[in-house]
This record gives sequence, structure tokens and C-alpha cells, in this order.
Amino acid sequence: MSDLQTNLAKAQEYLKRWEGQGVLNHINGEAVPAADGSTFETVSPIDLKPLATVARGKEEDIDRAAKAAKAAFPAWAAMPGKERKALLHKVADAIEARAEEIAFTECMDTGQALRFMSKAALRGAANFRFFADQAPTARDGQQLAGPDQLNITTRYPLGPVGIITPWNTPFMLSTWKIAPALAAGCTVVHKPAELSPLTARLLVEIAEEAGLPKGVWNLVNGFGEDAGKALTEHPDIKAIAFVGESQTGSHIMRQGAATLKRVHFELGGKNPVVVFADADLERAADAAVFMIYSLNGERCTSSSRLLVERSIQDEFLGLVAKKAANIKVGHPLDPSTVVGPLIHPTHEEKVLSYMDIAREDGATIAVGGSKVEGLEGCYVAPTLFTNATNDMRIAQEEIFGPVLTAIAFDDEDEALALSNDVVYGLAGYIWTNDLARALRFTEQMEAGMIWVNSENIRHLPSPFGGVKASGIGRDGGDWSFDFYMETKNIAFATKPRNVPKLGG
Ligand code: NAD
Repeated sequence: MSDLQTNLAKAQEYLKRWEGQGVLNHINGEAVPAADGSTFETVSPIDLKPLATVARGKEEDIDRAAKAAKAAFPAWAAMPGKERKALLHKVADAIEARAEEIAFTECMDTGQALRFMSKAALRGAANFRFFADQAPTARDGQQLAGPDQLNITTRYPLGPVGIITPWNTPFMLSTWKIAPALAAGCTVVHKPAELSPLTARLLVEIAEEAGLPKGVWNLVNGFGEDAGKALTEHPDIKAIAFVGESQTGSHIMRQGAATLKRVHFELGGKNPVVVFADADLERAADAAVFMIYSLNGERCTSSSRLLVERSIQDEFLGLVAKKAANIKVGHPLDPSTVVGPLIHPTHEEKVLSYMDIAREDGATIAVGGSKVEGLEGCYVAPTLFTNATNDMRIAQEEIFGPVLTAIAFDDEDEALALSNDVVYGLAGYIWTNDLARALRFTEQMEAGMIWVNSENIRHLPSPFGGVKASGIGRDGGDWSFDFYMETKNIAFATKPRNVPKLGG
């Protein structure tokens, strides 16, 4: 048997567990169908065949989940940080123990390649361990001495929070948002994306089997317009941590306005990778290729705009084109696959529509530009557009597929202007061996995260998030706790100051 056949056989075994009752919601420690019995099908992008029937939660389900999270909050918030830490490490252990099941299920549900998803569970477990370790000190504050008073700050968990995640790397993103909420002492209602709901269900089960108390983590599947909307409007939910499209972020802000929701948004991007003539071109080409074609290009921090200095344009684009043309597209469970199928036929159609848009706007399709023939799922060939300008739609809009738009620049000022001339500002990548230029450029680049002479490498204590239409707020390190916790200041008088006497 080939590696693919072996992996497929294992995946089929793992998927059997969804036969029968399908993917249920999880409220107050119980696996439950939707209150009104509604369901929907989740389809694999590999062959468009149904993978499982999923409970379609709506307002009533969200209400039950929010009430369960509210009831569980006092005990969870009061649990000593050391105990929460120990429990969350157990969750991490349990995630690692089911790494293969998580990886194979994620590949079948999202179309992401195993070579990247095989690490999803380890990364998810690392998220739990990192935030678990911070739990004992999360409430610690500062002492701020004024002339006649001593201020002491402290933090406490906000309450039940709502977490809404997208379909692209659902397991990793769910752990990234949920682990700090739990470590901070919040309880959670999670609404995963309707297009890839399977691993969110595995995750909540794993957490409860590891000992997480009932009601601390609740899961409601469903669509954005009903379950998602109801979560953002629920009065018992104190904050919404959302990862998804910029436009959905603005809907959520509107929906949450009446209940004054605290919001944290990780949204879309159109991230530039800027390559100067003095850079190490081979490494820069590897990084540019990795950052757009890994994870099927369905990645918020993908380097989807390649800005290249005109003097090296031909040489550099030649390198990128050669690598892009060699990328293996195929079944996600084949260990040699780099690019798998896109999440859904609707998304595939959107990505393919940019091929015509590129032609109409006058760009050149140097590599790819079409669906991959002979494969039945949503397979799009790795694509490189050249001769593009920054005003074209292929340079301005988030395509969210394996599609790279290359634009030439003449000097540093122009490179900076092009970098910043988009509505987004999530990530930026710059390649140069001129240190002073790197310092100047990064100072002015409009992005929440910038990597110099490197692809995106996450360091969990560092801040993650975007500016402009790419987001509000930061995750990572203590930034996550700032979002999930409230800060209180207590001022003690240290001298008997004269209190102003009013009225005698
Ligand atoms: P999406 O905005 O369509 O959906 C995300 C989630 O929001 C889903 O669970 C969906 O059901 C829910 N939702 C939709 N409408 C809602 C509403 N009115 N109220 C409440 N919830 C609602 O995004 P997507 O297509 O699933 O994901 C792709 C997007 O996510 C891309 O734009 C990508 O850049 C972004 N993303 C950003 C980051 C980041 O960290 N910045 C990471 C991954 C993905």
C-alpha cells in the first residue's frame, strides 16, 4: 500500500465515529443535538462527498450554552491558577495523545496538506501549555505609588466569552483563542466555522476527558447569521474573540453594540513581501513561495503581494516561478502534497474568478491560472501573476488561495508606498542586508507584525494582530490576558490629606 492509501484507510477509520449521530453541540458537559433538531452536512473538499451531519445551532442553543458558561464561571474563575495550570497541561497531553486523529480529520475536513497539519496537534498543545504556565500569575498587577496614595492594580477574568473561528486552520486557531481564555479564568462558548467543524468537536471532548469541569467550555455549531449572530448579541457574553473576514468583523461590531461587547478581531490581509536587490535572493524566494503556497494560500499572514526591486525582477521572478511550477498539488493525505483542495466549491470559484480579473486588468499569468485537471475536488494550481500594478484588484483584494501577485518597484520610497497602499495591515516581510534600511522601512510599514529576512515564525510570547482593516487588538503573551481580563485599580491613602469640604 502507498503512504496515501495507508493514510486514507486510517482516516476512514477515524471518520467512522461521525456516523450515526454526527457532530453534536456540547453544552454543560452534554453532547446534544440542536434544540429544534436542525442539521447541515459538512462536505470534504477532496471529493465533495459528505463527511458528517452537523447540529445546526441557533439562538436557543446559544442561549443554553451562554447560561451554562455563566453558571460555570464563578467556580472556574475562583480555581487557584496553579490548579488551572495543571488541568490545562492535562488537556495539552490529551491533545498530543490524539495527534494523528486530529491531523487526519483536519486534512479531510479542510483540504489542508498533512505535511502541515501533522503538526497541528503539537502546535495546539503548545498553545495550551504556554497559556497554562501563565495562569498562576495572570491576576498579578502593579504597584503605582502616587504622592499621597498607593495604587494597586489587579486583574480578574471577564466572565463567559464567545469565540468565533474561521475554516482555514480551525484546530490551531481554536486552541490559540480558547487556551488563554480558560487560563485567564473565563468560561467559553465556541462557534466554529460551518465549513470545517470536525476538530472543534474533538477538542472540547478531549478537554473534558482530561478533566475540564462541565459548562466551562461549550460548543455550538451553526451558521454565522444565526448561531454566530446570537452569540455576539447575548447579554451574558462579555466579549467576542473573532477570527475571520474584515467585513464579518464589522457586522459583529454592530451586532455587539447594544450589549457593549468587548471585541478582539483578527481579520484579513494582503501582506507584502518586499525584496530588495541586496537580499539573499535564494532564501527570499524560498520564503515568498512558502508564505503563499503553504496552507493552500488560505492563510491570513500569507505573503500575497510580492514587491520586487526592478533591477532583480527577472532573476527573482524566474526563481519564484520555477519553484511555484514544481509545487506538488494533490490529495492532502499524500505526504508529498504541498497544495491540497480549497475549502469549498464556492471559495474555489472565487479564487478562480481572479484569473479572469488578472487578464482583464492586463497582468500576466506566469504560472498556473486554472483549476487542476483530472482531480475531482476543489484543486487550484499554484499561480503567479506578473506585470501587475498595485491598483489592480489582484493586488488589493484578499484572494485567500495559492495565488501570488508580483509588482516591481524602483526605489525604497516606492516600495514603502506600495506596501502601505492597501486597506489591510496584518503582516509584512522585508528582505534586505542593509540594516539601516530595514530599520527605516519597518518603522514606516503599516502592519501589526513584520519579519525581516525570515518567513513567518511565531514566538508565542510576542504580540499577534493587525492594523487598519486587519484587526483590533493583540493576542499572544500577556496581550491575550489583557483582552480576557478586566483591570481594577485600588487606591489607598498613605497620608491624611485634607479632603475638600463642601457644604460646611
Ligand atoms: P468568515 O468571516 O466568513 O467566518 C468566520 C466565522 O464567523 C465563521 O465561524 C462564521 O460562521 C462566523 N460568522 C459569519 N458571519 C457572522 C455574523 N454575522 N456574526 C457572527 N459570526 C459570523 O471568515 P472565513 O471565510 O471563515 O475565514 C477566512 C477569513 O479569515 C480570511 O479573511 C482570513 O484572512 C481570516 N483569518 C484571519 C486570521 C488572523 O489571525 N488575522 C487568521 C485566519 C483567518
